[in-house]
Amino acid sequence: MQKSKYFKGKELVSPEVYKIYGEEAIKFIAKDILIFLDLLREDLGVPILVNRPSVGITQRGLRTTIDSIVKDKVKNNKLYLSAHVLGRGVDFEVPSMDMKKVYERIINNPRRYSMITRIEDPNVTLAKGYIHVDNMETGKNGIYIFKP
Ligand SMILES: [Zn+2]
Repeated sequence: MQKSKYFKGKELVSPEVYKIYGEEAIKFIAKDILIFLDLLREDLGVPILVNRPSVGITQRGLRTTIDSIVKDKVKNNKLYLSAHVLGRGVDFEVPSMDMKKVYERIINNPRRYSMITRIEDPNVTLAKGYIHVDNMETGKNGIYIFKP
């Protein structure tokens, strides 16, 4: 099982998952994503936050059938194949840095961050205060910027 130097399972899955699996829940997060988070954390030298349960942010990592974002899709009979339900994507923020700079660092260093394949359109996510990355297949080289 891939471990993370800087991140605990608790930060990467919803509280419902953590309640059942505890720290072992980290096994649901793709190895590439754990490697990326540790590498970026090391490069930036400052904390990166995924879930922040203390302020009610709980669905930035793994999302499951009992988490509201997924539940709403099911209720409305909507297909939902987000990287978040596959453990292959995360949304994160870096409170002590300009998020645009963080975004540029990633997008300008596709070789260093080759374990991720996609980043969500910054015009959408930066406005909301986070960056989404995942390792979904794109059939393209480098880091592909996608629209939600
Ligand atoms: Zn996301």
